[in-house]
Amino acid sequence: MTQPDFKASALGPLAELHVHVGGSVDPAVMWTIAHDQGIRLPSKDYWDFVDLITVPNDGRIKNLDDYAALFHWTELIQSSPEAIEHSVHQIIGGGYRKCNITTMELRFNPMKRNRGGERDLDHIIAGAIRGMERAELEYPAVRCGLILMLDRTFSVELNEIVARKAITYRSRGIIGVDIAGPRHPDFRYRDYGRPIDACRRAGLGVTIHCGEEGDPREMWEVLEHLRPSRIGHGILAAGDEQLMHELAKQRVVLEICPTSNLKTHAVANLEEMRHILRRFIEYGVRFSISTDGPEMLQTHVAQEFEILVNEGLLSAEEAAACNKCAHDASFVRHRAYPGMALGIF
Ligand SMILES: [Zn+2]
Repeated sequence: MTQPDFKASALGPLAELHVHVGGSVDPAVMWTIAHDQGIRLPSKDYWDFVDLITVPNDGRIKNLDDYAALFHWTELIQSSPEAIEHSVHQIIGGGYRKCNITTMELRFNPMKRNRGGERDLDHIIAGAIRGMERAELEYPAVRCGLILMLDRTFSVELNEIVARKAITYRSRGIIGVDIAGPRHPDFRYRDYGRPIDACRRAGLGVTIHCGEEGDPREMWEVLEHLRPSRIGHGILAAGDEQLMHELAKQRVVLEICPTSNLKTHAVANLEEMRHILRRFIEYGVRFSISTDGPEMLQTHVAQEFEILVNEGLLSAEEAAACNKCAHDASFVRHRAYPGMALGIF
């Protein structure tokens, strides 16, 4: 199955569904934003800064907690209306120019961008929307939307505020909600049935970070209580036949991020990733391919496809099916956008 000359351009326009704003802005842009805002950084040297906000191949990042810690700096730097606007604008334009991404979903937690309540949440969200709208005007071929993330380290009450904001801004380009962030002993997915259901009834898409590490039984809990149409990662399902049958039956799409899983050591190596993806294909589990955060992980979605095909994890046809799955499963599809020909008149 190995096709060493495969180029992702053969797939046509790409869709990327799983992209964190905190991991997706070019370090040079982040450096300028940090300086514009007078943020005190631990080093005055740019290359030290790059080391601070990217995942190297030197084994410094040993697990998901180490990875999550990198977001401390990117979230701090993006914590103003201007900074989040600049960030969102840059990611969307960059994705189109670099990889021909024409369907893009970006996710972030506005409450991790307001400096502990010092900044107004609505201004942060409005800044992100403005950045997206500017990118859409510049690149009318791109359809994009924003996902607001609830956080596993927040209380239910705090997370409900984020869920309410997502509903409030649903007609402005907020297309979905997610639950993410570092794991916390007090967190339980089943506590979120009510707010997540309210988001779904308001027309928002639901994707949940789950099954990246830990106990695969959490994925059952998520399916039962939160009923997402997509799951972020979900790679642990490959070890549970019943779960794979259930995911296939419910047509849940897993957002697979290969380089992210390898660099955080959620997956040991390409051979293990190959096993996971082959199992999903065998059981009819739908999945898309994303980066999680291209700049932080020093990859891009075209490269992800090229690795998967050139290393024999997927055939070119299967890669095309993953890309189509991402376009089809995107929450953006219900959104009116400036480049859209409405055909009303
Ligand atoms: Zn993620």
